[in-house]
Amino acid sequence: MEEPDQIEQEFEQVLYSLKDYLLNQKEQGVEGLPIAKDLSSPGRAQLLEEVRKELGDCKRCKLHSHRRNIVFGTGNPEARLVFVGEGPGGDEDIQGKPFVGRAGQLLSKIINSIDLTREDVYIANIIKCRPPQNRNPQPDEIRACEPFLIKQLKAIRPKVIVALGKPAASTLLGRTVPITKERGTWHEFEGMKLMLTYHPAYLLRAYTKENRQAV
Ligand code: URA
Repeated sequence: MEEPDQIEQEFEQVLYSLKDYLLNQKEQGVEGLPIAKDLSSPGRAQLLEEVRKELGDCKRCKLHSHRRNIVFGTGNPEARLVFVGEGPGGDEDIQGKPFVGRAGQLLSKIINSIDLTREDVYIANIIKCRPPQNRNPQPDEIRACEPFLIKQLKAIRPKVIVALGKPAASTLLGRTVPITKERGTWHEFEGMKLMLTYHPAYLLRAYTKENRQAV
């Protein structure tokens, strides 16, 4: 395992690379940083609302039987930056919102570190219901849920999608992604820029005292 300090440095580099890209877009005349300040356009919000309606009280996979809430996604429908995580945990299941637990607090810090807030971006997951004991999503669950994530992404059409962790990166790229090797790299998803990076929960695990002593 890599040293936590090294992971931190590399994660920062990923963020700076993201920030550079966004600033570069701004210099080239692309409106604002990745968010549109004008929230008056109903287009994207309406499209997202339609996706939410189509999802309904979803029972397309076995995860529906134990969920408390569907965690659809939150944030700005006009966002130019979308983060995609793995799936809801316990806190998210209770609140019906993505990334509200410990990993979510770290994600908020990461978002703030590039001078944005959670209200500026959109946050979603590859699956919308909590797996039992927070296990990894299974292929049939991802298959059932992925079309809705894709519809969300196409509704928002952000400039940049950030895949947080291996399951998100692998799902969006349609192949098994060795995230340690490929984090920080840029890809394309349906005409949108896609960057791969670590999942904040991985960073939290790497930063626990126990791990610090172990490495
Ligand atoms: N981890 C995720 O991948 N998504 C969440 O919403 C919360 C934790």
